[in-house]
This record gives sequence, C-alpha cells and structure tokens, in this order.
Amino acid sequence: MSTASVVVEYHEEPDKSDGDSKLYRALTLSNGLRAMLISDSYIDEPSIHRTSRESLNSSTENFNGKLAACAVLVGVGSFSEPQQYQGLAHFVEHMIFMGSEKFPVENEFDSFVTKSGGFSNAHTENEETCFYFELDQSHLDRGMDLFMNLMKAPLMLPDAMSRERSAVQSEFEQTHMRDEVRRDQILASLASEGYPHGTFSWGNYKTLKEGVDDSSLHKEIHKFWRDHYGSNRMVVALQAQLSLDELEELLVRHCADIPTSQQNSIDVSQLNYQKAFRKQFYRDVFLVQPVEDVCKLEMTWVLPPMKDFYRSKPDMFISQLIGYEGDGSLCAYLRHRLWCISVVAGVAGSSFDSNSIYSLFNICIYLSDDGFDHLDEVLEATFAAKTLNEDDSNTIITNYYQIGPSDLKMECIMDLVELIVEEPFFNQLRTQEQLGYSLGIHQRIGYGVLAFLITINTQETKHRADYVEQRIEAFRSRMAELVSQMSDTEFKSIRETLISGKKLGDTSLDEEVLRNWSEIVTKEYFFNRIEAQIQVLSNLTKEDVLNFLNDNDKNNLRKLSVQVVGNHNQTSNSTAQASRSGSLSDLLDDGQDDMAYETDSAKPMTEKIKLEFLGESDDPSSIKDIYAFKKDLYVFPVFNTNPNIAKKS
Ligand SMILES: [Zn+2]
Repeated sequence: MSTASVVVEYHEEPDKSDGDSKLYRALTLSNGLRAMLISDSYIDEPSIHRTSRESLNSSTENFNGKLAACAVLVGVGSFSEPQQYQGLAHFVEHMIFMGSEKFPVENEFDSFVTKSGGFSNAHTENEETCFYFELDQSHLDRGMDLFMNLMKAPLMLPDAMSRERSAVQSEFEQTHMRDEVRRDQILASLASEGYPHGTFSWGNYKTLKEGVDDSSLHKEIHKFWRDHYGSNRMVVALQAQLSLDELEELLVRHCADIPTSQQNSIDVSQLNYQKAFRKQFYRDVFLVQPVEDVCKLEMTWVLPPMKDFYRSKPDMFISQLIGYEGDGSLCAYLRHRLWCISVVAGVAGSSFDSNSIYSLFNICIYLSDDGFDHLDEVLEATFAAKTLNEDDSNTIITNYYQIGPSDLKMECIMDLVELIVEEPFFNQLRTQEQLGYSLGIHQRIGYGVLAFLITINTQETKHRADYVEQRIEAFRSRMAELVSQMSDTEFKSIRETLISGKKLGDTSLDEEVLRNWSEIVTKEYFFNRIEAQIQVLSNLTKEDVLNFLNDNDKNNLRKLSVQVVGNHNQTSNSTAQASRSGSLSDLLDDGQDDMAYETDSAKPMTEKIKLEFLGESDDPSSIKDIYAFKKDLYVFPVFNTNPNIAKKS
C-alpha cells in the first residue's frame, strides 16, 4: 500500500524545545486514525555494544541497543461501560491481549515482546485506554504486526475470560488496600444519577462473575470492542531510530486497515460539574479508618474541567498559594501550633480526579495527633485561607533580568551580588517600604543562560502592581552603587562568608541528591561545581563585581516583568469570614453556602477563574499574546556551563 493514498492530512509540526533533536510528524489516515511519528535517528548510537568484538557474537546480534516504542490510545474508558457490568472497560483491556485472528496463540504478543528485550502494558482510565510496548528496534515490524492485529481483530474467547477475570480480581486485591483508591470509591458512590463516574472502574469477581451469565458477558465485551475500538477513536504514537518516512511506511502498513467504529465517544456536553455529585457530597463528613499509619484531613471542591484551562492552569496557581510553606502561609500557621506535618493542595492527575465533566480540587492536611484534637481550628484556618483565595487580593510580581550565557565566573559574581544586596533588599523593600512580607532575590540558570529574579508578593489593596514594579526596578538600579559603597574589608568578609558556606557541603542526603540530580537533568555533569566555585571566588575582587554590574546595566539590560494582579476591591464579606471564629458545623455550613452560591448564582466558577490579560492594548511593552511574543524572540542555543565539556554553539 502506498502511503500517499492513505494519509489524508499532515498536521502542523508540533512545537518543541531547542534542545530536542528528535523529528516529529503528525498525521491522520483515511480511516480516521491519528498518529504522531517520532524519529530518533539523529541521536548518537550507544557505544556499549561496540566496546569489544566478542560482544558482537550471535547471542547479542538480536539486540542492537536501539529501542523502539509504540502506544495506542483508544478514546474509551470506564465512563462508557454498562451499569450492570462495572469494570468492563478494564476487563476488555485485559482480554484484548488474548490472541488475534491472525495470531491466535494467547499471550503471543507479550512473549514476543519480552523475548525481544522489551515490555508491554496497558491501563484503563475513565475516558481513555492506553496500550503500549517497547522492544528492540530490529523487531519493531513484527511487534507492530502482532500488536495491531490485537486492535483489528482480537479473539476474546470465552475460555480466556475466567483467567483474565482472576487477573482483574488480583489487581483489585492489590489496590483496594490503598487509601487513595478507597477515597476515590467513596466519592464515586456520591455521583449523581446519570453521571458516569459513579462506576466501580476496577472491576472484580463481584461485578464480573457473581450472578453474571458468561455468555452475556462474552457478547458484551465483543460489543464494547466493536462500538469503541475503532481507528477513528485511536491515536498512535510511534518512536524509533528510523527516518520519518520509514516510520510512516510502518504506520500505514499496520494501521491503515484498522476498521472504524460506529459509535462516537461518550457525550458529556450536557453534564454539569455543579451537578456531578449528590447533596451528600457537600453535606456529609466521612470518618475513615485509614489503612496506612496516617492522620489526614481532606477537603474536596468540585471545579469545572481543568483541561479546558490547560494553557493558563488556574488550579496550579491556587495550589501554589494554599500549598505554600513560607511565612504567613496556612502550612506555617498550622506547623507553628504543631498541628500539621504538611499541606498538599491541587488537582490530582488521575482521571477520577480530573476528566471532561469536572476536576476535583483537594486540600490534604497531614495532621499531628494534636492537630486532630484541634480539628475545628484547623478547618477554620483552612477555610479562611481558601476564602482569601476566592476573593484574592494577592499580587505577585516577578522581574526576570536576563544576563546571558553563563560561565563559572559569572555564576560566582552573581552569588556574591545576591549575598551583598540581600540585607539592603529586605531592609529597603520589606522593612521600610512595607511592600510585602514575602519577597526574594535569586539567581537562576536555565539551559545555561544566567538571570536573576526579584519577586515580591503583596496585596493589591495595599500597593498597586505598577507601583511595586517601579520600586523593584529602583532597587535593581542601585545594586552597583551598593557594591561600590562597601569597604574592601566588608567585601572580603562577605566573600569569606560565601566561601565557608560552600565549604560546609551538603547538610542532608536530600540536598546532595538534588544537587547531583540537577547536574544530570541539565546534562552539565559538573559534579565538582562547588569546589570549582570556591577556587574562582577566592580570586574575585570588588572591581570584578562592579565592572560586571556596570557593564550589564549599560549594555545588556533585558527585563521581563510577570505580574499576577490581585483583586483591588476586597469585599467586606470575605474579611468577615476570615476573621470569624466558628465551630466545625459552622464551617461546614459555610461550605454549603458556597455550594448554594455556585449552584444558584449567575456567576459560575468558570468565570471566577478566568484569566485576563491586563495592560493597554496599544502599549508595545506589554504582552497581549504570549505565543506570538515567544515566537518573535531570539533564542539562545543550549549552553553548557561545565568548562570540562566543550561548548555547543
Ligand atoms: Zn489491569
């Protein structure tokens, strides 16, 4: 089959980072199957198999060290399973692997993949089922043949059903003792009538065996496969060290004849997140005896689906504010009273927590015994923090000053500058000007490019964002002056402080791991960075620092100011709630008020969390379109700050 007759559309090449040398091609076939081809061909071959001639004998010739990977995402999951067969979607995922018309031997695909140095697996979510495998590239063609035939015409024979049912049962037995799985199932039991998330998506003997007629179940799994496992509902990703054309040829040969399905994916457009759970969800408190040795308080809010907001991620913003551990945070407040160990907040990644109908925002507080005894006060503090967020006056401004490709000397100079200006920075902006209690100045190296950041968290009701930005800039312009005002003795003493700090080494295993791991992630492998810095620092003079700052200010000043601006007009209501003391039942009443407000009010949550770009539209210095702005930028190549590794340019 020629590929030209089968490919109906080539899509725009996806955005990728400059450090990514892989090639991508996105396309749609005539049967509606969408695919992403990823060519690794320009990555250097691993040398492990070339070290000695002996290793190229017959036992290793099957494995040339190049791995290929393939995944099929089918747009169906437990949301589509019939009420009377809970766990059916998961069961079908298992049955698919039990042989195809062309390759009828059970588990033939699995054993082939294992023998070819790879692995395969699958998982079922609420709206998606994903199958994937990885194997030595020389076996990719046959692997795809075996795999795609499971998609095209799986046997799913009656006598395989009992074996796979026990597999599903044993998975259930392994997971049902996990607290988060049990929590999901409690919440699922509170789903409203007619909403698909009320299902028991794991499945077990109780839902797939007891009182279930095997021939009906057999008919049901084939119907489920026919209805949903169509090429028009599939996305394939294929990655190997082959050219894009070779990958396309493989894709077309193995996937162009996958049949389409008649049914479309489940329509959730009429379902509303505000009605997704019954009243009991908002009213009741569940006291659960945990399996793990842990004491925690969980509060869950139902939000609109966050994937509609994936570009702006408002939930991440709220989770940062609530999960923040610094001064003035909920966590700091509770820890100070020895009531909590940690606070975790956000929308979790599982499809029960976030799907096309709703997203669940969860605040989880790990309590001490004492915290459990003060549950009322813990709840009160949490609701106060949450209310502040709804009517949030918090403004966060980060000015990013880009310096350019970094080297060891610049890194050390900026370390010194940070230490020199830190105290005047706090004294000026926090103590004297009272711009905010949370502020900081830090250097940052990203992809070898050095910058420093100044961040201030303030309240819009106290100081407007524009004003705070001006004050940051005023301080920044005085940094060189602050250095020049130092006596030589002061300079040397600060330099010694920095050096002895670095000589202390890592204070915990965590710190050591993170430091080394970041060298691996950035591919700099500069594991003796600190020793090298100490060497450079010992020879740095005040003039070096001064020349660097002056030169940067004159010739190289680049600033990006990112401002998240809070609500200027704080309502009296939220202030009252935040300061009022209340009992557990009062607070739960508040929770219900919130819910009533969301249900009845003309202003749904989707509007409350809308992202709005501020600034004058004709002002060239403010960014109205982030993507257009980013496209226009000159991008530095990836630099390596490790002097032992030759610089790319
Ligand atoms: Zn499974």
